[in-house]
Amino acid sequence: MIIVAKSGITESELERLRDQLASFGFATHVAPQSQRVVVGCVGDDVGERTDAIRQLPNVESVTPWPRPFLLASRAFSAAERTSVITIGQSCSVGDAGLLIVAGPCSVEGETMLHDVAVAARAAGATALRGGVFKPRTSPYAFQGLGVAGLELLAEVRHRSGLPVVSEVMDTRQVDLMLRYVDVLQVGARNMQNFSLLAEVGRTHKPVLLKRGPSATIREFLLAAEHILAQGNGDVILCERGIRTFETATRNTLDVGAVPVLKEETHLPVIVDPSHAGGRASLVVPLALAAVAAGADGLIVEVHPSPETAKSDGEQSLRPSQFRDLMRSVASVARAVGREVARPPSRRRQWREARCHAR
Ligand code: PEP
Ligand code: MN
Repeated sequence: MIIVAKSGITESELERLRDQLASFGFATHVAPQSQRVVVGCVGDDVGERTDAIRQLPNVESVTPWPRPFLLASRAFSAAERTSVITIGQSCSVGDAGLLIVAGPCSVEGETMLHDVAVAARAAGATALRGGVFKPRTSPYAFQGLGVAGLELLAEVRHRSGLPVVSEVMDTRQVDLMLRYVDVLQVGARNMQNFSLLAEVGRTHKPVLLKRGPSATIREFLLAAEHILAQGNGDVILCERGIRTFETATRNTLDVGAVPVLKEETHLPVIVDPSHAGGRASLVVPLALAAVAAGADGLIVEVHPSPETAKSDGEQSLRPSQFRDLMRSVASVARAVGREVARPPSRRRQWREARCHAR
């Protein structure tokens, strides 16, 4: 429910009111950017306590709140615009520029990672992706390079100036990953791993939260709320396809989720056309549909030789295909009043690395 406090309520009176609500077992959040002091109050059976809450000192009005989440809600935060999240030193998502994250499904070695970073950056990517802890369906499939892969990511990030995104699969990996990456990715399979959500919520790193293959939009937003409720406001949502009866694609890209999320939440929303389509030939049309639907960015798998990739080669673009994709993305972005963000400024190391590669 939403509680409007009496005007002139002092800090200590507000604190007392929140303590009283907490003693009923409810969580409270004070709405930002509001003219009046507005307290959102959530918890089991909150509706049954309406009369008792109305009687509390300094309560002016109480109205039901139709959603189970507060902090993720656009209405509660009275946010007219999407929240802008800073990534690394000079990259952001949620503003007019689209965030374009490109890179291999898995980090497989230094040369391939470096080659992808060079090509992706030259084509206009603004961040680099690469998994080192891989959630594989089979325990016998390549599980990722682990710490060695993180070191490669940090090295290529240093040389390219591109911030890096990598998946954290377990609460025990969080501290380690914080030292190497700019964005913690929580994968689709872990969208409802509530201990992991709480753990990344206690950090100050942006979190890229992927929608679970069978999660409703409401469950997706509640997963984001778990992170936000711990104090980390930098959550980027990622639609990556859901499981439906359709088998012609790896997953069904829920393009409709993009405008629905944009209505419901102030959090930036990006789309992963690679895991949705499951085949390289579908990545471009799905990516363009996502941008046309209002996505704030894309995360795309790119590999220098997809046929030899240790994971997700079928859906990985070659660097030349990624370059073509970026050209089409730029046109669609312009048509919907967006632009492709400029890559972070070049560093001397980057120039050196390129000269070396020639
Ligand atoms: C990935 O990004 O490589 C990945 C495993 O994604 P998802 O969690 O969406 O399946
Ligand atoms: Mn993958």
